[in-house]
Amino acid sequence: MEMIKAPRGTKDVLGDESRKWAHVIGVCREVAEDFGYKEAMLPIFEHTELFSRGIGDATDVVEKEMYTFTDRGGRSVTLRPEMTASVMRSYLERDMSRLPQPVKVWGYGPMFRYERPQKGRYRQFWQVDFEILGSPSPLRDIEVIDTSMEIYRRLGINNLSVLINSVGCPKCRPAYRDALRGFISGSASGLGGLCETCRERFERNPLRILDCKNPECKTLTDSSPSMIDSLCGECREHFGAVTRGLAAIGASVSVDNRLVRGLDYYTKTAYEILAGELGSQNAVCGGGRYDNLAESIGGPRVPSVGFASGIERIVITLEGQGVNIGEEPKPRVLIVNASEEALISSVSLLHELRGAGLSADMDCAGRSLKVQMKRASSAGARFVCVIGEDELASGTVGIKDMSDGEQRTVSRNDAVSALQTCLLDWGKR
Ligand SMILES: [Zn+2]
Ligand SMILES: [Zn+2]
Repeated sequence: MEMIKAPRGTKDVLGDESRKWAHVIGVCREVAEDFGYKEAMLPIFEHTELFSRGIGDATDVVEKEMYTFTDRGGRSVTLRPEMTASVMRSYLERDMSRLPQPVKVWGYGPMFRYERPQKGRYRQFWQVDFEILGSPSPLRDIEVIDTSMEIYRRLGINNLSVLINSVGCPKCRPAYRDALRGFISGSASGLGGLCETCRERFERNPLRILDCKNPECKTLTDSSPSMIDSLCGECREHFGAVTRGLAAIGASVSVDNRLVRGLDYYTKTAYEILAGELGSQNAVCGGGRYDNLAESIGGPRVPSVGFASGIERIVITLEGQGVNIGEEPKPRVLIVNASEEALISSVSLLHELRGAGLSADMDCAGRSLKVQMKRASSAGARFVCVIGEDELASGTVGIKDMSDGEQRTVSRNDAVSALQTCLLDWGKR
């Protein structure tokens, strides 16, 4: 029979890599606690409408990338392509507007998008997500950006820079869309200078033309009008407050007119954080403000701001920058045993050691004492417990210190406390 393999675009996170993931999530949890975000664990699938209305029908995500299926009850459900819409759905459904505002939540987990897999991009990918809901203040935009910077700083990632833009609001964006369309149709090559995808975007979603990677589209839009120049008074003031705040916290910021993000719900602030040396920079996170998302999914207005960061991308960046997250923990104690009978005695000692909170293991394969000793040494055990024929007969256990080879004998009943003391002393060395 043919062996079954994992679906294209998925990844098994194992061994040393899973340790890096746990480290990243651990640092996010620490930062969340320090900044006052509460953890939310939300469903992986939602009603399809949440995303088609929340993210927007004309976006690549909703048009081409969602894992949507009809369940056995005839409902259309979708594996979440991102987390923000679910967080807002939960805020509205659980009536969180009654809590003191704003409400700060964070979470992490797998997201799903049907995209062409490549390095660092999977169809099932993991994100950490931080959101501040229920505040229009630019100070919250700054807080969100600071939250993301603090995560990378604590992870030891260097050379961070913030790219920022404002995508305006429903008051000022239509005029900018018109200005952009006018610029493109008035250019020498006109609409014909755009790639096929962008020609489709021209009517429905012209802002996305700005972040097309196609070189011809890039050249055509090089000198296009900037959104910042079209902002209404309110959006302009907001943008000014955010950039001043970022300067105050010492963030290295540049304005990027091409930064429009792929999701329709963004208003005002849109940002990305790049990490690494110039030229090999990697976007480790993206986010922004989304004041109208709640209304588009049937709620009242809930001005909010947040970001998401891909765990795969963070781990690639950690590896690329050679960040050391420390040695893999080794078993502190290994039990070696001499006979069938000694095996049972070893099992009970192992049970007691682990029950006392010591990291311990034993050999179960009945190998020779010599081989077991060698294995204990290569496994990096600090102490070895020997239960040989003599020890079994006399109700004792040998404790061997692997750093100097010294061995002493203690009574079986005292073995656990003796090992605890040994490890304490060893820790002080
Ligand atoms: Zn505006
Ligand atoms: Zn294009």
